[in-house]
Amino acid sequence: MDIAALKTAVAADIDAFHDGLATVSRQLHAHPEVAFEERRASALLSDFLIKNGFDVDKGICGLPTAFRGTYGKGKPVIAFLAEYDALPKLGHACGHNLIAVASLAAALASRRAVDALGGRAAIFGTPGEELYGGKCIMAAAGAFEGVDAAMITHPGGGNRVLMNTLACETLKVEFKGVAAHAAGAPELGINALEALLQSFNAINSLRQHIRSSERISGIITDGGEAANIVPAHAAAELIVRAENNTLLDTLEKRVIHCFSGAARATGAKLKYSWGERYAAMISNVTLARLFHENMRSLGRAIDLGENTMLYFSTDVGNVSQLVPAIQPMISIAPPGLMIHTPRFAKAAATPDALDAMLDAAKAMAMTAVDLLADPANLKNVRGEFRRTTKGV
Ligand SMILES: [Zn+2]
Ligand SMILES: [Zn+2]
Repeated sequence: MDIAALKTAVAADIDAFHDGLATVSRQLHAHPEVAFEERRASALLSDFLIKNGFDVDKGICGLPTAFRGTYGKGKPVIAFLAEYDALPKLGHACGHNLIAVASLAAALASRRAVDALGGRAAIFGTPGEELYGGKCIMAAAGAFEGVDAAMITHPGGGNRVLMNTLACETLKVEFKGVAAHAAGAPELGINALEALLQSFNAINSLRQHIRSSERISGIITDGGEAANIVPAHAAAELIVRAENNTLLDTLEKRVIHCFSGAARATGAKLKYSWGERYAAMISNVTLARLFHENMRSLGRAIDLGENTMLYFSTDVGNVSQLVPAIQPMISIAPPGLMIHTPRFAKAAATPDALDAMLDAAKAMAMTAVDLLADPANLKNVRGEFRRTTKGV
């Protein structure tokens, strides 16, 4: 088997699908759907896969907009992860329309590799990355069992293959107090907003004495009804982040103490709940090097990058703790342009952005060729995975 020729053919398959893929990207971008409401996107991607010979299971893991597409039989299983949720008000300001299309393209091109070399190509439709951690739920439900390696590419304002991220968890907090006339009888009230403000101040103090990599951010979602009523209800939403699960456990306890202390001080009743935990992303360097080489062979300059932490979080982290995984960042915008901004949403719709992400798709499919063609590659990827995830 001429591996170089197979890689060239796999890349050419993506070129052959260019117009169809461009249409999918445009449609996703023009009809942004927020987390867990991606019905149109999920159907569009599933139909494309079914038309092109994939078996597709829809609504897996109890998530109506999740899916799994597979092509071929047996092992190894090389998976591509698709995201397609947008941000409230900002649309596709994280470029998940491009993530979806790149993973779709890589899966379609991998058919040729599977036909030639055996094994299986899989694509997972993973909804709700921005809000509810679809992959956290899917990972816990066993969706990624049996997968040998997983790849996903994320558009950004820079190029690097290795991208490790922080573990995080969302916290919803509520204080219940007692309403009273704010001027006529304030002594009869218990002020839920004051409890929240005290908590935020306590967190501000705490921030001076946590690790420099740790993050606590939040907003007040309910601060009362009117200035002449002592607020009987106040609520907030926060995100707490740390480098790994152990550090996050400790930080979460300290954050809760800020709230329980304020409850004590004000007499307001505290209620809180944690969302899905996004685990820290562990990039597999062996897999990253294969991708890096393939991307460079396509004439795309990209740094391997260092295996250091970026101060974001992604639910790909949960997959990376179960399966060797990478999530290269592909530049589609001027250096430094941040995701989650209106300018980035515009950049995610340009033909240049699509071309960059389709080159990334080619590199993913070529990396699948590397893994299917040479068992030593997969052995090395697995060996590193075992070493780096020990004790996580
Ligand atoms: Zn995002
Ligand atoms: Zn994103």
